[in-house]
Amino acid sequence: MKRTLACLLLVLAAIGCVPPAVDHSYRAKSQDSRAQFLILHFTGGTWEGSLKILTEGPVSSHYLVRDNPVQVYQLVDESQRAYHAGQSSWKGQTQLNAASIGIEIQNAGDTQGTNGIEYHEYPKGQIDAVVALVKGIVARHGIRPDRILGHSDIAPHRKVDPGPTFPWKRLADEGLIPWPDAAAVAERRMGYEAKLPEVLWFQTKLEQHGFAITKTGELDAATREILAAFQMKYRPARYNGTPDAETAALLDVLTAPAAKAP
Ligand SMILES: [Zn+2]
Repeated sequence: MKRTLACLLLVLAAIGCVPPAVDHSYRAKSQDSRAQFLILHFTGGTWEGSLKILTEGPVSSHYLVRDNPVQVYQLVDESQRAYHAGQSSWKGQTQLNAASIGIEIQNAGDTQGTNGIEYHEYPKGQIDAVVALVKGIVARHGIRPDRILGHSDIAPHRKVDPGPTFPWKRLADEGLIPWPDAAAVAERRMGYEAKLPEVLWFQTKLEQHGFAITKTGELDAATREILAAFQMKYRPARYNGTPDAETAALLDVLTAPAAKAP
């Protein structure tokens, strides 16, 4: 019997059916995780609908964080690619599905209210779960603080999630993302109150920050969308997409080399 098996293996090896034995004794120093980015989303729907789309549809995410009751679900292994970023870009990187971990946070998203579009608050317990999850992912994959982003950062013309109610400042306070120093922003703001920079200056700074933008020198619809995405994150009290002194100061401080590390 053993002999028959040995013969069979020899025949299979001869026709290339048996994989070669692999020796793992040499390891390369130059390697890191395929996950370089962490992208945060809101689901923008009901829990049942979100779960169905993310498990049965053409889109997916590694994690789904329910709001009530708060529960973290893993839908895709971290070693696998999930489909949550879509057409997107950050600092020239466009293959973001292949290079990221995605977290969908259950939230109704942007809905039509009596006074226009409304956004919904995230319960504190849900954010606590997101923060703990993010910390674990960052530790496992060595993701840089400036690469923890929202869907609206990487796709500002299509997406607004996780929206202006998402507490980015909490992530900054936890040491997870860079945040502009308030005193430096206040100081620079005074200068920009006296003289607001040209649109081209804003476009150049937005590009330096990471957005894919066409520097037209005009306050076009695309530039407004990117400005709104930036404001939603760093100045959620007003995100009208209009260039102003505070936005200029925030951009200036964030793009200064010293602001890179939290
Ligand atoms: Zn999204």
